[in-house]
Amino acid sequence: MLKLETVQIYIDGRPLFSSLSLEIKPGEIASIMGPSGCGKSTLLSAICGNLADVFVLSGDVSLNERTILALPMEKRRIGILFQDDLLFPHMNIAENLAFALPSEMEKPEKKEKIREALMKAGLSGFEKRDPETLSGGQRARVSLLRSLLAEPEAILLDEPFSKLDQELKDQIRSFVFETIRSMDIPALLVSHDHRDCPQGQIINLANQGE
Ligand code: ADP
Ligand code: MG
Repeated sequence: MLKLETVQIYIDGRPLFSSLSLEIKPGEIASIMGPSGCGKSTLLSAICGNLADVFVLSGDVSLNERTILALPMEKRRIGILFQDDLLFPHMNIAENLAFALPSEMEKPEKKEKIREALMKAGLSGFEKRDPETLSGGQRARVSLLRSLLAEPEAILLDEPFSKLDQELKDQIRSFVFETIRSMDIPALLVSHDHRDCPQGQIINLANQGE
């Protein structure tokens, strides 16, 4: 369970949005909507532990009953997926995926995890391919699987579909939602487009009561 309690983020003493409280159960994908600039990406940064110094956070965020705000990013066990999929161009697909795995994991185990992830993405045998030789949809699937390989306890999605064309969007959206539901972890998706939101709770950040 991912729980936000009266979360607010301030810049120069002004709140970006009004107090936000939210509970997301395992396997549930909650959506936060709002226009550009209302603080959606900043909220996700705060949850995953990467909030820029100019911001101040109040309230509490807990994951599976433990508060996470005092923990550094790498201890929070939260995955994040951005709209610009951040596959490293100078690494092949297997190396990109290996990057998400714990450094202490043995090579054969890494290889097997990567093989399984590619199979789930319908990309068996793509280990040695360069990211630029993949289609947009293939890259999007690899990015999702990379963010899940570290076995996070929650995942955050920042407008993950906004750069895909419509046909691809429909396909990737169902892949993303099904994959997250099968992992049975809470997910929080932010978007400015209601068509990208799954069924379930939708919170409009801009309209949070003052
Ligand atoms: P959204 O994702 O909803 O479009 P953001 O969370 O990116 O909005 O930004 C919220 C506000 O904070 C915007 O006004 C933006 O300009 C500002 N902002 C974002 N990051 C920084 C930063 N590192 N330093 C100063 N202001 C920032
Ligand atoms: Mg944003």
